[in-house]
Amino acid sequence: MSVAEDYYDLLGVSKTATEEELKKAYRKMAVKYHPDKNPGNKTAEENFKKISEAYEILSDKDKRAAYDRYGHAAFDPQQGGTGSGARGGTRSGFRQGFGGFRDPFEVFRQAFGGGGFDDFFGSFGGHSRRGASAGSDLRYDLEVTLLEAFKGIEKTIRYNRHVTCEVCHGSGAEKGSSRSACSMCRGSGYVMTSQGFMTIQQACPRCHGQGVMIEKPCSHCYGEGRVVKQTTTKVKIPSGVDSGMQLRLADFGEAGEQGNSSGDLFIVVQVKEDKYFERHDHDLHCRISVPFALAALGGEMNVDTIDGQAVLQIPSGTQPESILRIRGQGMPILNQKDSRGDQLIHIAIEVPKKLTTEQREKLEAFARACEPRSKSSFFDRLRGSFGL
Ligand SMILES: [Zn+2]
Ligand SMILES: [Zn+2]
Repeated sequence: MSVAEDYYDLLGVSKTATEEELKKAYRKMAVKYHPDKNPGNKTAEENFKKISEAYEILSDKDKRAAYDRYGHAAFDPQQGGTGSGARGGTRSGFRQGFGGFRDPFEVFRQAFGGGGFDDFFGSFGGHSRRGASAGSDLRYDLEVTLLEAFKGIEKTIRYNRHVTCEVCHGSGAEKGSSRSACSMCRGSGYVMTSQGFMTIQQACPRCHGQGVMIEKPCSHCYGEGRVVKQTTTKVKIPSGVDSGMQLRLADFGEAGEQGNSSGDLFIVVQVKEDKYFERHDHDLHCRISVPFALAALGGEMNVDTIDGQAVLQIPSGTQPESILRIRGQGMPILNQKDSRGDQLIHIAIEVPKKLTTEQREKLEAFARACEPRSKSSFFDRLRGSFGL
């Protein structure tokens, strides 16, 4: 193993990062480096492994504490640290070279959950099933702005996927050539290898788990029956969509091997943070400054809403940090026609930094009017408190 990089640096977070910050940083990078987004890119795959390993350790309280204390030695079985993260992992496929760590896809799946992706993740890391299988599901992460989420939008997306080879129509065989059982695995699709005291079942390297050898593979798809092709499709994002929601496009996933049925495409929506509004489910929160005279006297003020402006009624005596509500100016509620959340306005009180002479005189008069009836001045009270 080469010199390990600092886990915090890998995720680009500080040593004091909270759980939430870690997860956010990991999510951002995992989406960027996910092998599905970077087919055939070894550097991205390597990075994906590294950040998943970093996240695996730092997201676990005990492992993080051990790491903070002992560094990488805590997880290296050869160096015999505290070893809380070091289990005797199998060294095959994705796990090669990093000892007891979990499969990075497992880390990713545990962090972000989401049913329906098992097949998709299952196609990596030597988990492929025996024989020609149905196509895997694919995941596409789509970012939309808050306004797009408000209005709903149609987006055109482009991604790479396997489609059935049009030359051999998915059979993988050149015209007139035959298919026979693989001689290495005798058609089973897997082989057993032993490493130390462990015996591991691995996909057959000769037929790649297919169990079948093609006498003369199709020259267009090299026998796989499918080829990678860029796909362009339109997706309708409904009004009111929120982060983490998934849209499913049936049959837009990977084509199956050797003509088997296709998987689905899952569009996972991420709504970007907005400069002005903070979304809490259907409600939109924002912050405005109200001149202190207006807050004291009460009145009206124009405020921005997500799609325009509204008049906000400010009651007299409004206090700093109070929250005013405009009903029905929040986000649309998905699948509920004409139903919207509220806009909640957090009030800050604006104190003038400079006063004109006239303003100063009037404010001083106001201050005098606020003095208690007994005419004791500040100094009188000070004296009083020292018993002078
Ligand atoms: Zn072909
Ligand atoms: Zn084989």
